[in-house]
Parts: sequence; structure tokens; C-alpha cells
Amino acid sequence: MSAVAMPRPAHVLTASQFDRELTDSLLQRAAELEGIRDNLLAGKIMATLFYEPSTRTRLSFESAMVRRGGEIISAEDASQTSSAVKGETLEDTIRVVGCYADLIVLRHPTVGASQRAALVSPVPLINAGDGSGEHPTQALLDIYTIKRELGSIDGKHIVLCGDLRFSRTVPSLVTLASLYNARFSLVSTPELAMAPEMVEALRNSGTHIVETADINEVIRDCDVLYPTRVQEERTDIRYNAGVVVDNALMQRLPERAIVMSPLPRRDEIAPEIDNDPRVAYFRQAANGVPVRMALLEALLT
Ligand code: ASP
Repeated sequence: MSAVAMPRPAHVLTASQFDRELTDSLLQRAAELEGIRDNLLAGKIMATLFYEPSTRTRLSFESAMVRRGGEIISAEDASQTSSAVKGETLEDTIRVVGCYADLIVLRHPTVGASQRAALVSPVPLINAGDGSGEHPTQALLDIYTIKRELGSIDGKHIVLCGDLRFSRTVPSLVTLASLYNARFSLVSTPELAMAPEMVEALRNSGTHIVETADINEVIRDCDVLYPTRVQEERTDIRYNAGVVVDNALMQRLPERAIVMSPLPRRDEIAPEIDNDPRVAYFRQAANGVPVRMALLEALLT
């Protein structure tokens, strides 16, 4: 199959810009690209502009670009080392970096930063996380993982627990998985519950959502358990959000289910479960590479 055609302007800003057809083609293309190295993107330059810490997102984008023969320029610590320190606006930085690269991958602490950046970017721009807003490429690799591990995404019961208020991977995942009629259980304390407006909007669009503080009410029928750490950089809350995925909880999780996480983990996932075959979070992290290879191809060819 050839590159997926992205509608122009070819920015990736939010999970809600993807419809089922486009998402399916990206997932299929990613599957074809697993393990591949070629020179399709030779001569292209990708800039990674990260104003917040990152391990997986930045390095898997960079690995994806290298595997397609492209090159990388990086401000991996842009809040400290870019001209932001001198008071330059994000818009001016983007205008300039867009002259040095064919594509920009941007991570920024402010919700909506990528939308603002895309308005002035002369090249395709990818939102690699904007505060507690969105993380659309994480959602793509998340549903790729669900499909790869469980055969399909359709109708799956996804149990999201932990910090559902400040997490940006959760809203993006819910948006994309809803395209496949996934069902969701939201397990959290009231302080870390998903914003009521978001829950209402999802329900109004027909998404099936159960909210509970007790994971035991929903674990028996779970296909995907998706714990998230408390986003301490965005909240003063300093306790784990009530659910710890440990050996005791794994005994109640169905055999068919998987445990996913956008990582990093803190105390919400006990390392004692790491060798359980249902633990998919490291395989999930690896899936970032083929998914981002497919995306870069779609945006740059
Ligand atoms: N790595 C993910 C993100 O950037 C999840 C997290 O940091 O907790 O949103």
C-alpha cells in the first residue's frame, strides 16, 4: 500500500480530526511498516521542538524519521534552551523553525499551543502533547496496540483509571476509540474525574460511559485496563488516584484483557505485574515507531 493521503492542511492537532477511514488506513500502513527501514524520506528534515519533558514521544518520532531515511534537528529542552528564554513568542519560533525543517513536532505545556502554532507554521505540524489538552499521536498508537493485541477495537470495554482530569492521553484515546464504538468505564476520585462537560459531550455523541470510584464494579468485564499517573506537573494533588494495578488486581482482570499505559508509570502500576503476559505497555511504547512512520509518510510525501 502507498502512503495514506492526509487531508490538507496536513497538521495533526487533535484526535477529533480523524475519521474511521483515515484512522483505519493509518493503522494498516503502520502494520506494513513494522521492522522496515528505507529511504523514502531522504532529504526531509523533522524538527522536534519540546517545551516539556519526553522520552517515548520524542525518541520514537526521531527513530521513525531515521528509519525512513530522514534527518532530525531538535530542541529537546526548548523551554530552557530556545529563544523562549529571551521572551520570543511561540508563533515567532514556529515561523523560524518552519524555515529550517519540513515538519515540526511540538510539545508544549499550554492547552491549544499546537493550534496556535499551526496557524503560522509554513510546514506540517504535529501536536505531541499540549498541556492537559490532547495527545493525538499517542491515541493512534494506543488504538493500534488494542487492535494488534486483541484483534479489533470494535466494542471493546476500556477501563480508564487514575488521573482522568489532567491526562491528555485519555481524551484523545476516548475520541479515537469512540470511532470503533468502544465502551468506557472511568474510575477515579472526584478531584481527578474527567471534566463533566467532556463526559456530557461524549454521552451526547452516543458514547457509552460508566463513572465509578470502585474498579471492582467494572474489572470483570474489562478488555483494556488503562491506568494513568497523576499529572503532578499540572496539579497539586500528590496521591495516587485510588487504583493500584498489582498482582491482586490482576487476578480479577479477565485472561483476555490487556494492561496499557502511556507511561511513565509512578505508583499506579506495581512492577510486580511486569512479567504478566497481559501487560502490554512496553509493547505499546514500541508501537509508537511504526505508527509515527506511517504518519510522517502521510504528511511528507
Ligand atoms: N507520556 C504521556 C504524556 O506525555 C503520559 C504522561 O506523561 O503521563 O502525556
